[in-house]
Amino acid sequence: MTYKNFTLETDADGIALITWDMPGKSMNVIDMSVMDELDALVDAVVADAAIKGAVITSGKPAFTGGADLTMLGGLLKGYHKDRTKDPEGAARALLDGSRRLSLIYRKLETCGKPFVAAINGTCMGGGTELALACHARVGVEDDSFKMGLPEVKVGLFPGAGGTQRVMRMTDGQAGMQFLLQGQTLRAAKAKAMKLIDETAPAKKLVDTAKKLIKTGVDPVKPWDKKGFKLPNGPIYSPAGFQFWPAANAIYRRETCDNYPGARYLLQSVYEGLQLPMDLALQVESRYFAHVLQTPEAAAMIRSLFVSMQELNKLARRPADQRPNKIRKIGILGAGFMGAGIAYVTAQAGINVVLIDRDQEAADKGKAHSDQLMAKAIQRGRATEAEKEKLLARIDATADYDRLADCDLVIEAVFEDREVKRVVTEKAEAVMKPRAIYASNTSTLPITSLAEASKRPKNFIGIHFFSPVDKMMLVEVIVGRKTSDRALAMALDYIKAIRKTPIVVNDSRGFYTSRVVMTYIREGLMMLADGVPAAMIENAGKMAGMPVGPLSLGDEVALDLAWKIVSATRKDLGVAYVEGPLDNILEEMVVKRERFGRKNGKGFYDYAGRDKALWPGIVEVVGKPKPADAFNVEEIKQRLLVMQALETARIFEENCLTDVREADVGSILGFGFAPYTGGTLSYIDRMGTAAFVDLCRKFTRKWGPRFKPNRLLREMAKANESFYGRFPPAGEVKARDAA
Ligand code: NAD
Repeated sequence: MTYKNFTLETDADGIALITWDMPGKSMNVIDMSVMDELDALVDAVVADAAIKGAVITSGKPAFTGGADLTMLGGLLKGYHKDRTKDPEGAARALLDGSRRLSLIYRKLETCGKPFVAAINGTCMGGGTELALACHARVGVEDDSFKMGLPEVKVGLFPGAGGTQRVMRMTDGQAGMQFLLQGQTLRAAKAKAMKLIDETAPAKKLVDTAKKLIKTGVDPVKPWDKKGFKLPNGPIYSPAGFQFWPAANAIYRRETCDNYPGARYLLQSVYEGLQLPMDLALQVESRYFAHVLQTPEAAAMIRSLFVSMQELNKLARRPADQRPNKIRKIGILGAGFMGAGIAYVTAQAGINVVLIDRDQEAADKGKAHSDQLMAKAIQRGRATEAEKEKLLARIDATADYDRLADCDLVIEAVFEDREVKRVVTEKAEAVMKPRAIYASNTSTLPITSLAEASKRPKNFIGIHFFSPVDKMMLVEVIVGRKTSDRALAMALDYIKAIRKTPIVVNDSRGFYTSRVVMTYIREGLMMLADGVPAAMIENAGKMAGMPVGPLSLGDEVALDLAWKIVSATRKDLGVAYVEGPLDNILEEMVVKRERFGRKNGKGFYDYAGRDKALWPGIVEVVGKPKPADAFNVEEIKQRLLVMQALETARIFEENCLTDVREADVGSILGFGFAPYTGGTLSYIDRMGTAAFVDLCRKFTRKWGPRFKPNRLLREMAKANESFYGRFPPAGEVKARDAA
């Protein structure tokens, strides 16, 4: 038989080498054809008496990225189509379809001949489950080895035996963390957890795997033999009684029960570990079929897998622009942000000129890369040579002339128009005429900053988030005169540094900063309403936000919020309506100098890494009402509705133009409750009419800031959703956009 996705060669010792190498794809993924062929390959190995065992490896740099999630989407579509006509048949078809891979892996595991996985690089999801079903695993010992089961991150859990095999192979606590957090393991950690047996250099990987078969790999798994014991002992044992209540508590603390994927994972492990393997896999499959049907999984797959992939592939790049090769970039300002941008750029192999006011300040910015690399070396993630190579790419200087051959210059000096104007002029005086100039401003409109430029067509916003090395999102801001060429350059650069871009039109605060401010503001308004501070903070986390609004206010800095409020007051003059927000911020910032984390006191008191709510909040806002005067569900909703409503307004104003960008941007940019799929998916799931009703209810109860905008009212009337009315568009044109 010939295979489309695999090759099968048997050597003189009777060891088959199965090489997975899908034609026309840069990465192996598990789709229907791969499942068919894997099934047939197991049969072929078993049927051929000359074959003693088989090694499975990949012909690509990575082993596999895992299952093709669009295949699951197809299964679900079929289920929803048939379930009213034939509910039982539809449910069975969904279960059968979603457990097919699990059954193939079990067949491999029990086929009687040894299979060894030779994992030559990234191995994710269904690929890790394939490796675990094999009878032994060898991992490449260099940095390209990454092993993970990231399914929980898209609202699912590993449904092809992953939950059952991991927990039968490794220590319970480490295994549970690996599964619940969707961690990625390096080779050393995977070996310490016994999830791989050996490591080998890339060149010797397959030979090492073959050698294992020659020296004897047991084709019968320990759990298929009599007397098998779980690594941590049975669930109903003194150790189990210590482990499981704690696991349940940690699950609740980490997820606030918002993620059915994590809940079903825990149930699947708990029930499965009490059963023999075949039944355990059946339990896992049933929960997997359940989780597939949850709206959380659908929303997360759409935003965090499909849309994110499309944005990463630059779905919004103007198609008529030639690709840019970026060799060197300049960064103005080697402060907190500039230093981070220099690091991620050098990490992508691009040379950097890092400029500050004097050599000392520039060197300080470069030292940030030194520190990050030192940490990476300590954790075994980088070598001394890599550090030296990266540092050699960063030219720290105060000399603007070095910008002469940069393709792109990113400005990250103080958030001050005049300072920004001066550096723009200085840089443009030496830059190549075709080079692009970008500002990392967080709030100042790009069109107005471009007034300082002689080449406003080449002027664009590239807004990073802090800490730059960790945050995956970059917001690109198109000014009124920004050209398609500038947009293409910005997007090509973001792709090169492996971050996810969204493209927005110019306005004060753009998308992310504007919505974040509404979340913080709502927290302050709640304080003014008499909601206890701890209740506000917990409700924020229970709603799915990474931190409460008061905590976020402290991180962003309260004096900055006060500056913004004061500037708005000045701009609006008599039209400005003073509210409780002004009083709280004035009391905190002007009277008590509580600026937030940066000076160790805000709504929290900070002592090193520890923080506790400041008891003096009552002096600023008065004694809170009793907690049971408020409905916690309503508080959670207020916090999410306010952000979603602001997003809808930004969409109506044409600052945001793509539903995917609104959703992905909200999750990656400010951690908007990921289980919802993002700000606009949150509205769509509730239904626009119900959302508008809720806004109206909140307007009556809490004030006019909840008034639904025209677009939402129109959509509610016409019974439209965001994804229905605005199906994701393709490329964007800077000229059309602005
Ligand atoms: P920062 O104060 O840490 O750094 C600013 C740096 O610019 C300093 O090192 C300063 O010496 C340098 N600088 C000032 N004038 C200069 C000049 N004339 N020539 C060269 N260098 C000069 O500030 P930051 O937090 O890094 O913010 C920089 C920019 O990034 C601001 O526009 C800010 O709004 C934006 N931003 C900040 C964040 C954040 O979280 N801090 C996030 C996104 C965007």
